[in-house]
Amino acid sequence: MRLSKFLLPTLREVPSEAEIPSHQLMLRAGLIRKLASGVYSFLPLGLKALKKIENIVRDSMDSHDAQELLMSAVLPKEYFETSGRWEVFGPEMFRLKDRAGRDFCLGPTHEEIFTDTVKNTIKSYKQLPVTLYQIQTKYRDERRPRFGVIRSREFIMKDAYSFDTNEEGLDISYKNMYDAYREAFDKMGLEYLIVDADSGAMGGSGSQEFMVKSDVGEDTIAYCSCGFCSNIEKAACVPEAIETNEDIFDIEKIYTPHSRTIEELTEFLGTTADKFAKTLLYNSDGKIVAVMVRGDREVNETKLANYLGSINLELASPDDVVKTTGAAVGFAGPVNLGVDVLVDNEVALMKNFVVGANETEYHFKNVNINKDFTPTYVGDFRNIEEGNICPVCKKERISTCQGIEVGHIFKLGTKYSKSMDCKFLDENGKEQIPIMGCYGIGVTRCMAAIIEQSSDESGIIWPVSVAPYHVIVVPVNTKNEEQVKLAEEIYSELKKNGIEVLLDDRNERAGVKFKDADLIGMPLRINVGKGAADGLVELVTRKDLSVKELSAADAIKEAIEYINNNK
Ligand code: ATP
Ligand code: MG
Repeated sequence: MRLSKFLLPTLREVPSEAEIPSHQLMLRAGLIRKLASGVYSFLPLGLKALKKIENIVRDSMDSHDAQELLMSAVLPKEYFETSGRWEVFGPEMFRLKDRAGRDFCLGPTHEEIFTDTVKNTIKSYKQLPVTLYQIQTKYRDERRPRFGVIRSREFIMKDAYSFDTNEEGLDISYKNMYDAYREAFDKMGLEYLIVDADSGAMGGSGSQEFMVKSDVGEDTIAYCSCGFCSNIEKAACVPEAIETNEDIFDIEKIYTPHSRTIEELTEFLGTTADKFAKTLLYNSDGKIVAVMVRGDREVNETKLANYLGSINLELASPDDVVKTTGAAVGFAGPVNLGVDVLVDNEVALMKNFVVGANETEYHFKNVNINKDFTPTYVGDFRNIEEGNICPVCKKERISTCQGIEVGHIFKLGTKYSKSMDCKFLDENGKEQIPIMGCYGIGVTRCMAAIIEQSSDESGIIWPVSVAPYHVIVVPVNTKNEEQVKLAEEIYSELKKNGIEVLLDDRNERAGVKFKDADLIGMPLRINVGKGAADGLVELVTRKDLSVKELSAADAIKEAIEYINNNK
């Protein structure tokens, strides 16, 4: 492809809307353009890379015997009503009506539709197991679209669904997808961790996420040298008691003006956050509940939602807090609260602690569990933190890092096959319900994750496997016939050998061309400059910007070898 004819609107300036490197680079390198919040168009160079990623995913699925099909993105309401998810998805679902007033949505995920397809096409155990997949556009009206295509409202997902006759079969199908995912992410050149993930309240017997380690990742991963590696949403916590020989004192109300937050309180009382237990009020499907964690800990909303079986869980509104506590926000406490009080294991080990008094500007001190209030339930309701004891080996301290979730594999069980009334006949002619797994890869998110892991100050550094083109040939001075001629020869020779090549035949200054080449990040660049008179060119490797002067023939040979060895 000749750059003079290529739609490649590169930008010198960093677009102000982009906070993280991959988003900035995707805009600057002319890969994507924003249409609306969380909605992007892919320009030619971006689409080339996207197709490569798609094909890596497709090859790994096909080589593990998954079958590709393609479902509509416009989905009738009835399927989601049957599964109960028309309500569950809430505002994240894009909804629309047809001209006759019938309800549809733009598919956020396709469990229902795949299950229905299997229900209508599979009758006998002889047709199972089967794993079906598609690479298709998904729609989710995310609360906070951000980071470009990392969290967008329209994105491409590979979603796969397996159907088995029994649990052992599901284990095999799941392992098969696990292997396929490793193959795909390895091929993309990603460095990733495979972490234990939450399976939700409603069942599912296991789930793992593929996380690309990155400071901009929205997920937090806890890991230990013993091999433990888990999303903190799921990681169990070992309660760490603060040793004290104190006697139990009597509860006492204290005046704490202007002390709503833990920081303000610790400062006012001159103590540390671990002497407090904070009481947070949540709205779980319309019911208000309180949860208590130590002052220096965070509530884990996934654990809380799983315990409560919540469909929608969110912090109670200020109005609900005032109604429930009778006090301004910031003074909630467990004593005479009148709603269920869930207490974290660690709080249950505390003595003589401080809590809100359900009265504006007042707290209680010397509060003790079962003396001053009775918890509804004591359990694990907090986030694990860096330096906590590992829940598996119980010896080492865990570390944490951030990750971008690029894939998720999930043992679903019969949740959808049951609710959608999907059945098959077993060996004895008896009706059985297939056991399902579901498996997602965020294809567009992968592209951002690759760039996040593989770029420098000058631009993108594409791994060969996903690079939109392999080599860019740059005639340094397009007015010099010798240079132009040699560049053209190299361009066509590389193409003949199956290498994907860009020729920068634009009448631009060398500096501009080199900057653009570094920005768009093809693995190799061949500069055809003054040396052309002697048949010499420069071969530049984008990864380390190393430069080699070679004859044109050797440069072509080395380029072909490099690309084929790294594909
Ligand atoms: P997240 O926790 O990031 O919202 P999720 O659990 O909702 O992800 P799944 O429903 O498991 O995601 O979707 C499968 C894959 O699709 C995810 O692993 C992720 O790579 C990708 N994905 C999910 N939501 C988005 C989004 N809004 N934008 C881009 N990719 C997404
Ligand atoms: Mg999500």
